[in-house]
Amino acid sequence: MVENAPPTLSGVTIGVLAVQGNFREHAAMLRRLGAEVVEVRKPEQLAGLDGLVIPGGESTTFIRLMRLYGLDEAVRRFEQPVFGTCAGMIVLDRDHLGLVDLVVDRNAYGRQVASFEADLDLAGGDEPLRGVFIRAPRVRELGPDVEVLAKHDGEPVLVRDGRFLVASFHPELTDDTRVHERFLELVEEETGVRA
Ligand code: GLN
Repeated sequence: MVENAPPTLSGVTIGVLAVQGNFREHAAMLRRLGAEVVEVRKPEQLAGLDGLVIPGGESTTFIRLMRLYGLDEAVRRFEQPVFGTCAGMIVLDRDHLGLVDLVVDRNAYGRQVASFEADLDLAGGDEPLRGVFIRAPRVRELGPDVEVLAKHDGEPVLVRDGRFLVASFHPELTDDTRVHERFLELVEEETGVRA
């Protein structure tokens, strides 16, 4: 295992929004990659972070709790890279926080396939990436400047819009760390720009 260990990176602190949902799995994966992790429950905890993850969960609950704690406005003001997965993708779209130039339909994979796994082609990757989709959102509209990094059945499932990375699936639920690595690269790029 050691020779296949992912590259680690130290000195970056990533917040994981911990109001609801899959935050523990994201935190574990980021720690595995060498990042410091802070579980964020209050707006003031965003200060000094190099990046933020908005995990999967239940988006209506998420949005309600974020509003209650003032985290919606705090995330809008946050200037570093943000990684949203599943419900996190919904939270960031044009119809919600309006930070990523896309629109999604919630729970839009038919009942039969509400949850499924599929191999995805990852841009720049040799091996397929296993995507775990759990009542996933489906991209309905995508802005012209949004870069598609992975597709499923011809539809975008992992995209980048500037400092935002969003996935309709759950990269924190497999052992494959590549999507989180991609996010940490984005964080390093942005930290480099600021330095
Ligand atoms: N179906 C959920 C929603 O609409 C998202 C599912 C997930 O994050 N796993 O909020």
